[in-house]
Amino acid sequence: MATITVTGGAGFLGSHLCERLLNEGHDVICVDNFFSGRKANIAHLIGNPAFELIRHDIVQPLYLECDRIYHLACPASPVAYQFNPIKTIKTSTVGMVNMLGLAKRCPARLLHTSTSEVYGDPDVHPQTEDYWGNVNPLGPRSCYDEGKRVAESLCMNYHLAHDVEVRIVRIFNTYGPRMAPDDGRVISNFILQALRSEPLTIYGDGTQTRSFCFVSDLIEGFLRMMEQNDDVGPVNLGNPVENTMLELAQAVIEVTGSKSKLIHEPLPKDDPRRRCPDISKARRLLNWEPQVDLKTGLHQTVEYYRTTLE
Ligand code: NAD
Ligand code: UDP
Repeated sequence: MATITVTGGAGFLGSHLCERLLNEGHDVICVDNFFSGRKANIAHLIGNPAFELIRHDIVQPLYLECDRIYHLACPASPVAYQFNPIKTIKTSTVGMVNMLGLAKRCPARLLHTSTSEVYGDPDVHPQTEDYWGNVNPLGPRSCYDEGKRVAESLCMNYHLAHDVEVRIVRIFNTYGPRMAPDDGRVISNFILQALRSEPLTIYGDGTQTRSFCFVSDLIEGFLRMMEQNDDVGPVNLGNPVENTMLELAQAVIEVTGSKSKLIHEPLPKDDPRRRCPDISKARRLLNWEPQVDLKTGLHQTVEYYRTTLE
């Protein structure tokens, strides 16, 4: 049994991770400022003697003792991270320094949740970890993309200079129950639109692609990456099955049984054309592979959103 800090623990991914770690018998300290996280995501964990919740903004230093830090705190959807871009950058830079400082002092091993966004609008396809990316440093996504790139560099340099044990994962689009309904990401938008019989909003012509990983698969990847001793990463974690947004809309309509139509809206600036992980490294290093296909994952996600609408 270990004492494990989860920053961003009240968010979508963080709440599933807290739950999984508690189920494995660990003590969990959930740290969150509730910017994009929600109390409802962790309400069922309150009262568990192994669970502790701290309302804290990681841009401020944090002092506690633990063995492991899963570092997830950062708004993740374009709507959330563009709400206050400077704050997003501070969270990924100053916040990252604070969490690495914590890892160094404890000492604790830290897993950093980076993103496929470090590849920007990629001109290598599918994306391998050794691809350096194509990011617009001044565009509307840069507060997130560049913040995450600096965060990776900080992790690597704390590792090299101070022997901090770091693990870096690059997460590709992940979905599932507890994604905030209003966060503007495509899966939450499409499902809620379908359940409300509203048109599904396709940005652009809908031929852009993403590869969608179900949350339980991703969390399994986090644990395997944290506990292996061979590689600091980065390692891509995502589902290598690539879909266009038109295909995704069709799948959501099928799973919900909705009669919604599709409408087109303007494509946001710098929206990546294609995104698909090469997961050879995760397969080799972690013996990891997503198990949940899109339809199965969508069914579970739709069930969750139905209950929120009741
Ligand atoms: P989320 O917005 O649901 O969770 C992020 C959590 O961090 C929220 O609970 C939020 O309140 C908290 N937070 C934000 N800024 C904070 C701060 N300064 N101090 C303390 N807490 C703060 O998003 P998510 O989808 O669960 O993403 C979790 C992590 O995974 C993020 O770092 C994100 O960049 C990364 N990621 C997610 C995806 C995905 O598809 N879900 C893809 C790539 C990377
Ligand atoms: N998208 C869309 N309709 C929506 C929301 C998003 O067509 O209502 C598109 C968006 O333009 C992008 C893709 O879906 O091409 C994924 O968007 P999301 O915000 O979920 O993730 P990201 O762009 O960060 O991968």
